[in-house]
Amino acid sequence: MISITDLHKQFAQLKVLRGISLNVAKGKVVVIIGPSGSGKTTLLRCLNALEVPTSGSVQIGDVRLDFSKKVERSSLPSLRKQTGMVFQSYNLFPHMTALENVMEGPVTVKKISKEKAKEKASSLLVKVGLGDKLDHYPAQLSGGQQQRVGIARALAMDPQVMLFDEPTSALDPELVGEVLKVMKELAQEGMTMVVVTHEMGFAREVADEVIFMDQGIIVEHGTPQQLFTQPREERTRQFLQHLK
Ligand code: ADP
Repeated sequence: MISITDLHKQFAQLKVLRGISLNVAKGKVVVIIGPSGSGKTTLLRCLNALEVPTSGSVQIGDVRLDFSKKVERSSLPSLRKQTGMVFQSYNLFPHMTALENVMEGPVTVKKISKEKAKEKASSLLVKVGLGDKLDHYPAQLSGGQQQRVGIARALAMDPQVMLFDEPTSALDPELVGEVLKVMKELAQEGMTMVVVTHEMGFAREVADEVIFMDQGIIVEHGTPQQLFTQPREERTRQFLQHLK
């Protein structure tokens, strides 16, 4: 479902991604861990062309862009359409209700009728446990509820893969669980997911594969069991030690 080959990203002189290659099969959940500044967010942003990689290729579903050649700006949305992204800060439209926030993409981008979009948005909000909050504005919702609206909003675009960038980092601890629960359910339904998170419990329980990144490269990857209990690399060991 996802195939990344020798991906590089440089900001001016700063080499942030230095040759990332990764394949994710359909229905798999990959969790990316690593120290701050190691390039995790940049990698996710390259996957949906929010950042344009310096070189290398990204394929998601049947869309493949080779950034080692000249890529027309007009072809970037084709990659973006394959992905749904959930950010640390939920970025909901404050003047729209939960329902309107979820309807917005399908109506304006996909040109789906308001009636259909409303039906779909309602069922997605029910799915994330917010069936009773359809008409609430973001300010009337807790952080955890807002983030669940964020997940429903991403799902409304029918993405092939879901990308999560530290989706629970901004939440009070007591609200983290409800968001992770929705993500876990999504994984169980067979959604292909790439998740940057510090929630090692989630990684242990839900990930098919865990990737440890440092300084723009994949230092090590393996099953949660392997990576957490028998890391091969010293750098991984040190990072995990630090978390304890
Ligand atoms: P992580 O998610 O692992 O914390 P990031 O991908 O956010 O790492 O950042 C990796 C490095 O890239 C950092 O040094 C950061 O300052 C730099 N960086 C990220 N985005 C930009 C940008 N738009 N312009 C310049 N430098 C950036």
